Amino acid sequence: MDTRQPLIAGNWKMYKTGPEAVETAKRLRDLASDVKTTDIMIAPTFTAIAQVADILKGSSIATGAQNLYWEKEGAYTGEISPSMLISAGCSYVIIGHSERRQFFGETDEKTQKKVDAAVKEGLKPILCVGESLEERESDKTFSVLDKQIEIGLKDLFSENLNNLVIAYEPIWAIGTGKTASKDQAQDVHRHLRSGIEKNFGKDFSKGIRILYGGSVKPDNISELMAMPDIDGALVGGASLDAETFSKIVHF
Ligand code: PEP
Repeated sequence: MDTRQPLIAGNWKMYKTGPEAVETAKRLRDLASDVKTTDIMIAPTFTAIAQVADILKGSSIATGAQNLYWEKEGAYTGEISPSMLISAGCSYVIIGHSERRQFFGETDEKTQKKVDAAVKEGLKPILCVGESLEERESDKTFSVLDKQIEIGLKDLFSENLNNLVIAYEPIWAIGTGKTASKDQAQDVHRHLRSGIEKNFGKDFSKGIRILYGGSVKPDNISELMAMPDIDGALVGGASLDAETFSKIVHF
């Protein structure tokens, strides 16, 4: 649907100290100042969020986090709440990234609690879903994704859910240099949108942005963005360099 404003989001993962993040954010802010019809977001590490948000204040680039915990506050050593992220300057939060699922025991049930907490507090969650190479090769892609979406979005319907973004990130394409072809990605995005339509209705499914993630680079972004159900990208490695990321947001 043509009314979906594209979103290009950069996931800086566990890279960049505060000063390094500030330098890249300043450069990106200047390089992307002419971008008006695409939303841009960058997600630095927790320690750099407030500094980056400060640099980006007044620009059209939003700041996001890479994770959160669903409780409001309490004795949860090492965790961070939605309101803490908001007060540091975040408007988006990435949830259920495959690295969190793979290395930190994040289950679909936990992603559901995190999405729920994010929408209740007014953050825009980017829920990541994706299949492994083994699952793709054994024809399980759609069933794996259906389960991640079904559990991840269970009991969530609320007004704030309009802020929800989905990111399809095939695990085999993350950081590997292998991108899903535009047709492979489009097939999955169409499937995801029709599943969302079944659960949440046609209007909601037409409005929700579904991003593609997995080795997105300046030379493959245009063909991906030309597909009807691809509404943007979640970019890892290629978001770390301001010049490279700027080329992507100028697709
Ligand atoms: C990611 O981390 O979400 C990602 C897609 O990484 P990369 O672009 O490096 O494949």
